[in-house]
Order: sequence, then structure tokens, then C-alpha cells
Amino acid sequence: MIISQQKPLDELLASLKDYNKIFLVGCGECATTCKSGGQPELDKIKASLEAEGKMIVGMCIPKAPCVAAQIKTELAKNMKALRESEAVLVLSCGLGVQSVKDNNRLSQATIPANNTIFGAVMDAQGNFYEKCSMCADCVLEQTAGICPITLCPKGLLNGPCGGMNKGKCEVDNEKDCAWVLIYKELEKNDNLDKLRVIHKERDYKKSSKPHKLIMK
Ligand code: SF4
Ligand code: SF4
Repeated sequence: MIISQQKPLDELLASLKDYNKIFLVGCGECATTCKSGGQPELDKIKASLEAEGKMIVGMCIPKAPCVAAQIKTELAKNMKALRESEAVLVLSCGLGVQSVKDNNRLSQATIPANNTIFGAVMDAQGNFYEKCSMCADCVLEQTAGICPITLCPKGLLNGPCGGMNKGKCEVDNEKDCAWVLIYKELEKNDNLDKLRVIHKERDYKKSSKPHKLIMK
């Protein structure tokens, strides 16, 4: 799941300063779940923008705006309102924003309402945690399923660093050192031998962007 958070209203108004007629697009998947682009958020932003003198000419919430077929269908259903609009304000992650831009055959400005923060897992209470940085070279089998790239602020592959103090991270002593967590987990499973492996420096070619995956 991709976590996004709405930008402050004054930032949105600055982005929309040249446009009065706005069409809103939300996201029925991630942004609905993390409450940054579902129906309540679209209703709220509509009210806020109208209070600032903007006209909301229409809105839609495709299930996933990052999927071309879904956003195209929703835009087509709303073509009359879209033609009236001067800008499309998208309440989703940056993937959704770019997909709206790429799949809208009209040429209004496409403006992000949200900041895209991280890829997350959601716990049973509905909280979100960043667990993977999508490095394209997974080492979880060596690290007892705990990601050092994401949980260690230095992304160390051979930790802990010299700054670890009583199990806490030197960068933020409120947080457990990722490598201490890895050690404890490996110890639990009688796998401490894995710590003897010295990981070579990462091959950053594997994570060079932009990635693509062409489906034949
Ligand atoms: S090592 Fe960490 S960042 Fe890389 S793919 Fe695995 S979980 Fe994701
Ligand atoms: S203390 Fe641990 S988590 Fe913090 S930077 Fe050093 S190795 Fe990484």
C-alpha cells in the first residue's frame, strides 16, 4: 500500500491560483484506506476550496487511478464536467497523479493534492508502517525477515554500527537498532551463523530508476 497525506490548504491554493474550475479525482484503494483520497476527503476539500471561491465542477473516485483502464473509464464517464474544468486536482499518491495526467486526453493542468510518503503494511488496528524501500535486491532471507535498508537510517548491510547504544539507534534513540532486532530474531531461530556473512556493497545498478516491467 502507498501512503499519501494531503498537502496543507495554503499550498494547494498556491498550486491552484491560476485556476477556478476544478475537477477532483480520488483513489478507491490506498488513498481511501489511509484517508487521504476517499469520499470524505474529497467532500472536505470541495468545501474548503468552495469557501475560497473555487468552483468544483465534478469529481470521481476510480478504484485505482494508477491503473489506466480504471482511470480512463472514470474520466470518460465524467467528460462533460472535465471539459468544463481548468485543472484536475488528484487526491492520491504520485502514481495516481501521473496516471491521471497520462490518461486524460484533455489538456488541463494535473495537480497533486497529496504528498507521497512511503510503501506500508497495515496492522490490525489500521496503523501503517514502512517496512520495505523497494531496493530491488532483497536480503530478508539473511536478516530474519527484518529489512535493514528500511529500518536502519544508514541502510547498513553489515550492522550494527559503532553508535548503537543499549540496543537503541544512535540516529534516534527512541528506536530499536535494526541490527539488534535482526540479531535477536536470528538468535531465536538458532540462525546466528548468518551474521558471519559479510555483505558486499550493494549493486546500485539494480535499483537505478525508473524501473519498468513489460508484460508480453
Ligand atoms: S531488502 Fe528491504 S528494501 Fe530491499 S526488497 Fe527486501 S524488504 Fe525491500
Ligand atoms: S544504531 Fe543500528 S539502526 Fe541505528 S544507524 Fe547504527 S546500525 Fe543503523
